[in-house]
Amino acid sequence: MNVIYPLAVPKGRRLCCEVCEAPAERVCAACTVTYYCGAVHQKADWGSIHEKICQLLIPLRTSMPFYNSEEERQHGLQQQQQRQKHLIEFCYTVAQKYLFEGKHEDAVPAALHSLRFRMNVYGLSSVELVPAYLLLAEASLGLGQTVQAEEYLSQAQWTVLKSTHCSNATYSLLHRNLGLLYMAKKNYEEARYHLANDIYFASCAFGTEDIRTSGGYFQLANIFYGLNKLDLADTLYTKVSEIWHKYLNDHYQVLSQARVQQIDLLGKRFENDTGLDEAQEAEAIRTLTSILNIRESTLGQTPLKTIFVLKILVMLYYLMMNFSKAQEYAKRALSIVKEKRLGSHERKAIKKLLNLISTEEEHPIT
Ligand SMILES: [Zn+2]
Ligand SMILES: [Zn+2]
Repeated sequence: MNVIYPLAVPKGRRLCCEVCEAPAERVCAACTVTYYCGAVHQKADWGSIHEKICQLLIPLRTSMPFYNSEEERQHGLQQQQQRQKHLIEFCYTVAQKYLFEGKHEDAVPAALHSLRFRMNVYGLSSVELVPAYLLLAEASLGLGQTVQAEEYLSQAQWTVLKSTHCSNATYSLLHRNLGLLYMAKKNYEEARYHLANDIYFASCAFGTEDIRTSGGYFQLANIFYGLNKLDLADTLYTKVSEIWHKYLNDHYQVLSQARVQQIDLLGKRFENDTGLDEAQEAEAIRTLTSILNIRESTLGQTPLKTIFVLKILVMLYYLMMNFSKAQEYAKRALSIVKEKRLGSHERKAIKKLLNLISTEEEHPIT
């Protein structure tokens, strides 16, 4: 954490807290362009997003240099826009990752930043603001602040209504969050209506079998599970598992073949191979472990379904190069195979996974 020191406010400039917009009393010593009402908000912002973007804010918040020509000035403006657009996406992904990890409080400052940069770049009534409103709504719901969540959602709805070109992806996100709101309010009829819409629009945007569509199925499954309609929940959890299985298996096949044949995919060994961004990885972990918990609670009747989810988690962690986690899940699967005396086919498949992981561990990447 950087040092905090009191702020001497320059004359004639009203400086606001980065988090709550109250009059500022402090400045971040590392960038000297970010202000806070007090130590509490400075700490919250630092922990959420500021540490990651502190230095990136300097060129955005210091006055533009003097340009010699209109052409140079335009170029300078364009550069500023590019920087802001980068920050919009970056802050959005960081906030989303926190949400999937259940860290709702940390998500708020990052989401607020994404919203503010969107306002700067696109104006106050653009449909581009909607994804950020939805992040803030979801974070508020997670913090139990239903009224606040409803405010953000109605902002989002209003913006969508006024817009003439809202994408299917945005409609899907809007309905997912409305679904979550009604779930929180225990109005399951309304929640189901919105989640069905979420799935419809996500399918239009990405296809029915896409991981971005699976989030709607997952929430719908959670509703049925909560209502004790276990058959419906089971079908949907299976669907979600199959979608993630297909996605990860495709990546896994390419990579494991390459590793077995010792092909260095142009140095690809050195990076993460899921093809997912950090937020999507966090979503995969949350979704799959939550399905695993449900499967394990009915392990007696459905060992194969439990093993199926375990195998997907093995692939996920293998691709994320977290070999100890991958091994842990593979061993759990193997012990179920033994305990339930399942066929040699299952046993062989899991042993193969384990072998691949231990080869990887014996030759750690340095
Ligand atoms: Zn504040
Ligand atoms: Zn700073």
